[in-house]
Amino acid sequence: MSDIKLVSAQEMLTKAKAGKYAVAQININNLEWTKAVLTTVQELQSPIILGVSEGAGKYMCGFNTVTAMTTAMMKTLGITVPVALHLDHGSYEGAKQALADGFSSIMFDGSHYGIEENIEKTKEIVALAYAKGVSVEAEVGSIGGEEDGVIGGGEVADPEECKKIADLGVTMLAAGIGNIHGVYPPNWTGLNFEVLAKIQELTGTMPLVLHGGTGIPADMIKESISLGVSKINVNTECQLSFAEATRKYIEAGKDREGKGFDPRKLLNPGYEAIKATVKEKLELFGSVGKA
Ligand SMILES: [Zn+2]
Repeated sequence: MSDIKLVSAQEMLTKAKAGKYAVAQININNLEWTKAVLTTVQELQSPIILGVSEGAGKYMCGFNTVTAMTTAMMKTLGITVPVALHLDHGSYEGAKQALADGFSSIMFDGSHYGIEENIEKTKEIVALAYAKGVSVEAEVGSIGGEEDGVIGGGEVADPEECKKIADLGVTMLAAGIGNIHGVYPPNWTGLNFEVLAKIQELTGTMPLVLHGGTGIPADMIKESISLGVSKINVNTECQLSFAEATRKYIEAGKDREGKGFDPRKLLNPGYEAIKATVKEKLELFGSVGKA
């Protein structure tokens, strides 16, 4: 099992784009989260991208701790499906830190810079990452909702700007098409497929990334995959199902029965809920059996 290691997202996404399915990025927050995702993808023989935001990285005591935990867990569990450990919405400094700490994929989110500065910084990060065999995601047009405290306006990306960034040789490209992070408001107008089609036309075989996968209706997910989306990020949905299952356990008074207060018992319903959510997403995105 000594050959079990993290991989770049390049190969799994190239296959997904060609095969018209999407690989899920599931964000992780702690040991239970990581174990829930890894055991589920192994059972379903699906490739996976584990997303770590800078905030979640700090919470878990640094990217180095996350890398050590994830790789050790993969070896112990005998995880043989492709797993990429990916920095989500990395800053310029955060991206460099994740590279130093052994992440196999990084997102450099330069969407808040002007396009010229975004291009310059993305180029630099791409060169550093490729020297280590690490894949790179870039973002054009900030994605609405909250990204670790930064509120984006929910822009729709300019397809010509997407082409400029894609031409820098990034592995994958996230473009705002009306998607937002967190829970979608009732008056949400949906995804802009016209712009997505234009981006795909201009960027060719580049795997496109859809952020804010929580609460996008299944038919919109399928249509976006048919238009070149090969990676879909899911974060909030696992948080909601974890919280819901944990609340039910407490409300039912189970923590007061016997040793129900034992954290290994207390956190188990949430663990199972994450597994169920991940399974549902992998089935919807079509990546089951594609490892
Ligand atoms: Zn995002």
